[in-house]
Amino acid sequence: MARPSIVWFRDDLRLADNPALRAAIDRGEPIIALYVLDEESPGIRALGGASRWWLHHSLVSLGERLRERGATLVLRRGPAERIVRELVTDASAGAVFWNRRYGGPERAIDAELKSGLREQGVEVASFAASLLFEPWTVTTGAGTHFSVFTPFWRACLALPSPRSPLPEPREVDGIRRSMASDALRDWDLLPRHPDWAAGLRETWEPGEPAARRRLRAFLEDDLATYDRARDEPAAGATSLLSPRLRWGEVSPYTVWHETVTAGHGGRFLSELGWREFAWHTLFHFPELATKNLRPEFDAFPWPPLEPAHLEAWQRGRTGVPLVDAGMRELWTTGYMHNRVRMVTASFLVKNLLIDWRRGEEWFWDTLVDADEANNPFNWQWVAGSGADAAPYFRIFNPELQAKKFDADGHYVREWAPESLGDDGPEPLVDLGETRTAALAAYEHVKRAA
Ligand code: FAD
Repeated sequence: MARPSIVWFRDDLRLADNPALRAAIDRGEPIIALYVLDEESPGIRALGGASRWWLHHSLVSLGERLRERGATLVLRRGPAERIVRELVTDASAGAVFWNRRYGGPERAIDAELKSGLREQGVEVASFAASLLFEPWTVTTGAGTHFSVFTPFWRACLALPSPRSPLPEPREVDGIRRSMASDALRDWDLLPRHPDWAAGLRETWEPGEPAARRRLRAFLEDDLATYDRARDEPAAGATSLLSPRLRWGEVSPYTVWHETVTAGHGGRFLSELGWREFAWHTLFHFPELATKNLRPEFDAFPWPPLEPAHLEAWQRGRTGVPLVDAGMRELWTTGYMHNRVRMVTASFLVKNLLIDWRRGEEWFWDTLVDADEANNPFNWQWVAGSGADAAPYFRIFNPELQAKKFDADGHYVREWAPESLGDDGPEPLVDLGETRTAALAAYEHVKRAA
């Protein structure tokens, strides 16, 4: 009797370059494609609102694409370990395949499942698909992990080049029996009361085909000017691949190889390198979202939270044009340009003196690319407490940043037009005074170092 293969989709919602799916096809038995919404396992971070929106649409797309090729996507909700075990038993599955995850709680679940299922005689195999370099393969001469980006990336580039991407399968031989599946709408991933997702719908098309189109358009239209224009928020010069990489609608291997083929990609590839660095840092420091990577920052004397200041920042009502523009872009579209992410984050942490964790949580909830590694990693980078972080005293001046990177005001005019001109709102805080206060607070960190 056939013992089907389960392909457990996680952060890899694609058919092309999906080694777990490829392994199941090669095994030759009928396939069950599974996605588990896990909101219960200990330590798993609940998805933010914008992420839930993206996930819903990406699952619709994946489900359709599987159906066209002969398989059904089974949806189940619950603690992943129990759900996968139950499905193995229900379907008398002979094998389970997945692509690896690198967060602490996720790894614990996967390791437990792997050993448990193998003891039952079920074949289990996992694959590298979400990172170009496995975290345990990139080490310093002393065998430790890197805390500075440049030598980290140099070490990555000295390793064998990332493998070629696997082609997209034309057929996926799904199991004939119908398997119980949740209805996606019952997961309530889309906001309803109120429906705040209009701006997301206008901005994005989740799913693998749109991700591939975006990659191609970026390589054809923007790669050549990327180095020069990538810091200008109004230029539309970056790839907008971050949510697609977050959800695995396109694989980093595909992005890597197509960029190398298109040429001129060094700077762009090194941004993919920052993504690798963030994930490797999370792998070695699973508490990245809650704990300072540099413990001397535990001594930072955060003043009591002023909720009105946090809210003004969240809503884009600080009276600082570039900050307000960025926060409104985020609220409306689920995305913010990288330069503006740095400026808004610096303003929260160093001008409003609000703990980086509050900002990280807001981004986590509102970004469509909210990523377990990239988000806290970059927040800690801005706050000064992270790996290869900006020195604390480098406090972005949002006015100078606007002059430099949005010189003709296109970006601010789009998102916060009322702040241009003489009768714009007053800034919530004085940039100079708060900068001095932040530097004084930093003295505590220096003493603790
Ligand atoms: P491109 O410039 O086209 O870069 C290509 C890819 O490289 C990106 O899609 C992304 O995967 C990766 N990348 C680029 N910059 C970085 C970086 N600094 N760190 C890690 N990876 C990078 N990125 C996320 O993907 N998820 C997050 O949750 C996230 N939170 C951030 C929070 C703060 C405070 C800051 C300052 C940055 C954050 N970033 C995050 C990094 C960066 O802002 C986005 O990856 C980038 O703006 C996405 O746009 P893009 O795809 O057009 O980038």
